[in-house]
Amino acid sequence: MMIADRLAEVRSRIEVACRRAGRAAAEVVLVAVSKTQPPALIEEAYAAGQRDFGENYAQELRDKAKALSHLAGIRWHAIGRLQANKAKYVAPIAALFHALDDVNTARELGRRAAAVGRVLPCLIELNAGEASKGGVAFDRSASFLESLRGIPGIELRGLMVMPPVSSDPETSRPVFRKTREAAVKLALPDLSMGMTQDFEVAVEEGATLVRVGTAIFGARA
Ligand SMILES: *Cc1c(COP(=O)(O)O)cnc(C)c1O
Repeated sequence: MMIADRLAEVRSRIEVACRRAGRAAAEVVLVAVSKTQPPALIEEAYAAGQRDFGENYAQELRDKAKALSHLAGIRWHAIGRLQANKAKYVAPIAALFHALDDVNTARELGRRAAAVGRVLPCLIELNAGEASKGGVAFDRSASFLESLRGIPGIELRGLMVMPPVSSDPETSRPVFRKTREAAVKLALPDLSMGMTQDFEVAVEEGATLVRVGTAIFGARA
């Protein structure tokens, strides 16, 4: 199948999930996760109307944004964990940083964004119970948010979560629901949740951004 066909299928599955949940499809941004995929495939997706792309690795994001700077209106999402020393690759470029879980990285992102005259929108990543993964514990989310208040150059927009890998999308539902409740409590509007394995459940539970790679680009090498 061509990328345009896969994209159309993912978009239609998002629409159906929105309808089930009584939501408008325009409330959900599809982020096409292009990590490890060659620029030619991103161009193919762009030609099919896709504008939001997600990358995990800071240097790869920088390199692809440079190589594809001719694609007007393209938006790059930095979705992976980031060390403070790599903030300089993300801050000038990203439309949204999805994985904030560290105050030093937040300061450095803000400093680098301000240096180029912009404010970087950010999401706080919450940890869904796996110690090996990034993210802030749910019960620390309010205090973490407090510790970020007043840092110049960043704007806190919402929460991101990545449930454990599972072949059953329903196992993600309680995690998504809990994340949505946390966002309501913290008065943060955006929710980045749902990947190939579970994006329809995420849409039903209120995702405003879904991050889908494999269902669009096929398996990664
Ligand atoms: C790779 C990745 C995705 C996309 O995963 P797929 O299963 O290919 O859809 C989404 N979010 C993050 C943070 C990722 O690292």
